[in-house]
Amino acid sequence: MSGLPLQFTYDFLPSLMLKDKDFGHKIKLMKSVGVSTVWIDCYLTGEWDSSLEDIARCRRILMDEGFEVQALNVPLGHGSQALDPSQPLAFTTGEGWSNRVDSEGNPWPSTTCVDDKCIADSRAVLESLREIGFTRVFYDDDLRMGVWGPQLQGCFCDRCMKRFERLHPQYAGITRREIVERSRTDPALADAWMTMQCDSVLRFLDETTPDGMIPNFMIMHNGDRRHGLDITRMKQHFPDAYFRIGEGHFGDGSFLHPLGRSAIEHSIRKQAHLVGDLSRTWSETTTYPVGDLSPENFVEKIRIEIGCGLRNIFLMSGTVFLFDEYWHAVRDALPELREMAANTPLPDLTVPYKDDFVWHL
Ligand SMILES: [Zn+2]
Repeated sequence: MSGLPLQFTYDFLPSLMLKDKDFGHKIKLMKSVGVSTVWIDCYLTGEWDSSLEDIARCRRILMDEGFEVQALNVPLGHGSQALDPSQPLAFTTGEGWSNRVDSEGNPWPSTTCVDDKCIADSRAVLESLREIGFTRVFYDDDLRMGVWGPQLQGCFCDRCMKRFERLHPQYAGITRREIVERSRTDPALADAWMTMQCDSVLRFLDETTPDGMIPNFMIMHNGDRRHGLDITRMKQHFPDAYFRIGEGHFGDGSFLHPLGRSAIEHSIRKQAHLVGDLSRTWSETTTYPVGDLSPENFVEKIRIEIGCGLRNIFLMSGTVFLFDEYWHAVRDALPELREMAANTPLPDLTVPYKDDFVWHL
């Protein structure tokens, strides 16, 4: 017996719920697979989805239905149109926020450098959410300082470059491009640069989280210190946080690729070992855009997750409510999935994980 029950959670936009006269049907779908907590998407890359009054109304309705209701924010921007592919890519995020800058000196659309304005606005958002009763916020996996990929990244804006020189005078005068090139053969330089990116994410978390609120983290597929994501330190700063590990592979093409399964398994295992506690580790069970991963493969992904030791299944579908056939497929597979979860031994996370990521998406 694995000792951890199989649990499901889901997130959606409050605007989607409040405009939908047939939302009662969707509530039944969520209940049909045993969703226990819903995370409502409140604040997305610098903008509220709905008024605070509407968010509070949505929360009350769902609580009356028996769900635990918590918040989900999209904090810093993905660097791509990750929320709704039918919309053009927005260059800016919050009003007065600054785009991150890449190692060539170009601003990245839809990204944010962690600065005082972004922190002040995000802190005010969390204080408002806490006032209406939320105690947890899940941050989408745009909480990072780089885009997907194995290369050294981070924010190379003028302010961040000056900060790096101030922190490490031995690198005074270094250029953006030199940081990337020299770090390939200078581990101390790479480490200093990555640490500063991780510090930016931690500063955002430390300075925006009011008392009574716990931040929880979605870690990008294959995300690590190269992207400002230091799971060990995030855990130290927020010992009660949940971590949603990153799996990617939201469509049949990447999922069925010969490297697909291996890439998912390695990312789950590596990040779960860093979290070190499966009771606080959630899956990334997503089809994006909705429909790209067939319901059959959606369920197969859950089998992979259970096989790797995950028992907390985070169903996600961006800004579109998951179609009925996905809920039906999970519901129909529930007895088999529960049995698999009960009979598959959990991995020993105290044994260091040696393998590296498989870089395929
Ligand atoms: Zn910057």
